[in-house]
Amino acid sequence: MQPATLTLREKLAAVRERIARAAERSRRNPADILLLAVTKVFPADIIRQAHDLGLRDFGENYIQEFEGKVPQLGGLDGARYHLIGHLQSNKSKKAAELFHVIQTVDSSKLARRLNENARPLDVMLEVKLSGEDAKSGASPVELPELIGSVRACPHLRLLGFMTMPPWSEDAEASRPYFRRLRELAETHGLPQLSMGMSHDLEVAIEEGATCVRVGTALFGKRKKA
Ligand SMILES: *Cc1c(COP(=O)(O)O)cnc(C)c1O
Repeated sequence: MQPATLTLREKLAAVRERIARAAERSRRNPADILLLAVTKVFPADIIRQAHDLGLRDFGENYIQEFEGKVPQLGGLDGARYHLIGHLQSNKSKKAAELFHVIQTVDSSKLARRLNENARPLDVMLEVKLSGEDAKSGASPVELPELIGSVRACPHLRLLGFMTMPPWSEDAEASRPYFRRLRELAETHGLPQLSMGMSHDLEVAIEEGATCVRVGTALFGKRKKA
């Protein structure tokens, strides 16, 4: 009999299994795919629980929300925090202090602001591959200039690209976006690709994801913030 609710340990095992199978299908090493646990909206305690189970990389969307959790996160060995939500340049100082990786750099101005903090920071460029007005991200034509700006910032280390396709229940609908992101990364000689979430991580891994960002499949449905 299936228990009514799975524990975090069981859900983590299931996600790791999905990653392993998708990696195997695409002849990739699962160790090359980072599982980023997306903890937005959940309390600091869930980060602690996930850390106890061996997770080290955590994704958060909102500066203010994460700032509220930080005092409760002391002593989590090796934890790395990634900002995966849109960042306004007036909040860049705070962001550079709180996070190890900013996955959502989408303008030269923001890159220069993050660089001012003079703390080494890993960054990814958020690329917008759909026409949706509500989404942030740089368009593919803006990338050469943006990459140049980031490379001119001595405190920033450029890892690669991240993207978020238009929402669809059908994971296959994400495939063309993931494929396009990989092509862009190849064109620009960048090694890392942050793409794929709870519902489409297999497709993302088949298309070359090096980081999948998983919330719901680990922690359950989020209440509206
Ligand atoms: C919330 C969020 C996720 C996690 O989505 P799930 O469907 O809950 O796995 C991944 N990436 C970004 C940018 C998000 O905002």
